[in-house]
Amino acid sequence: MNVLVINAGSSSLKYQLYNMVTEEVLSKGRVERIGMDSSILTHEVDEKPEVREVSEILDHTTAIRKVLDMLTHREFGVLRNIKEIRAVGHRVVHGGESFSESVLVDKDVKLEIRQLFDLAPLHNPAHMMGIMAVETNLPDVPQVVVFDTAFHQTMPKNSYLYAIPTVLYRKHKIRRYGFHGTSCDYVSKRAAEFLGRPIKELNLIVCHIGNGASCTAVLGGKSFDTSMGMTPLEGLMMGTRSGDLDPAIVPYTLNKEELTLNEVNSMLNKHSGLLAVSGISSDMREVVQAMKEGNEQAKLAFEMYAYRIRKYIGAYAAAMNGVDAVIFTAGVGENSDVLRQAVCEGLTFFGIGLDHERNAVRSGEPRRISTDDSKVEVLVVPTNEELLIARDTYRLVLGEGK
Ligand code: ADP
Repeated sequence: MNVLVINAGSSSLKYQLYNMVTEEVLSKGRVERIGMDSSILTHEVDEKPEVREVSEILDHTTAIRKVLDMLTHREFGVLRNIKEIRAVGHRVVHGGESFSESVLVDKDVKLEIRQLFDLAPLHNPAHMMGIMAVETNLPDVPQVVVFDTAFHQTMPKNSYLYAIPTVLYRKHKIRRYGFHGTSCDYVSKRAAEFLGRPIKELNLIVCHIGNGASCTAVLGGKSFDTSMGMTPLEGLMMGTRSGDLDPAIVPYTLNKEELTLNEVNSMLNKHSGLLAVSGISSDMREVVQAMKEGNEQAKLAFEMYAYRIRKYIGAYAAAMNGVDAVIFTAGVGENSDVLRQAVCEGLTFFGIGLDHERNAVRSGEPRRISTDDSKVEVLVVPTNEELLIARDTYRLVLGEGK
């Protein structure tokens, strides 16, 4: 029983093929530059060298066909026949208020996702292209959609409403939705397993720190509050996003700099955050390197970034009236020991003790980085959104699995 997991972007598409009996990744890869000349398909199987094919791939339907050709390729493939793919699971960024869990795709689900285009104009249309492309290539294969927002639908009203006229919520659904939900769900369950405690008894704070970054308060296994809002711009400082700011800055900047609204939007999403403050890069590795070489702006960017995370941890510990474990995950959270140290150093009043040796260890497994006598556990738990998508797909299609 194999499940293909797809993450479709506007000009790219990532895939992973899972054997759901063993939960092993049989193959993974990506198609880049869809709709441009010289599109690139990169395909990986086990430890074998990557296969790279450059061709013209004008749309997502062709991209999926090329992926299926590669998966059944005599030399590079892992399947004898595409019929061995029993189901396809898609990552979908925005499920609005319509979806609080993963669902099988049908006519109504597709219609609903289309109605959410306004809330995620860069993402949902691309996901829909992925769904339609699979439908064209594999018309008899069931598809499942897994939403980044679904996990956060348990947030109480006082967490998700903005203090603006309620008519805006009623008419336009302006509220906080939160993102990285699939990751938070996966990581909190893994953390509970690791701690050997029922998730229902735990107050967790998940710090998903990648290019995009968010903190989530997970109370008894359910999202209670999260730092991203109606869009992924709110909350922590990120690679290129500003995170929280005074909304009055928008009209003020429009006026002073004679920028258009689109330009200000683009500035806040693509030209702010670590990139803007460091003046070097949106990549934490490069910022840390420059900081070590004595670059003052890089140091400031790093400190601001860590400080915001610390503030959110403090806020969520208060929101839940206590915290059992703080969890770091995603690209920066899993890999940057200096960032984890900078965040935790200011939290000693909580009773957080960081064990520097444990913090320096690299491993792909969940691990404890706090000291044995720390009152709050600090864990690093590698995320795996694709596996959770594959599991949900398997469960919904065959009624089996975790
Ligand atoms: P995305 O939000 O795109 O899914 P990821 O979770 O893959 O992002 O994180 C990507 C980011 O992780 C990179 O931009 C880089 O800044 C950061 N990163 C990866 N490895 C390291 C490392 N060793 N030290 C610090 N940061 C790292």
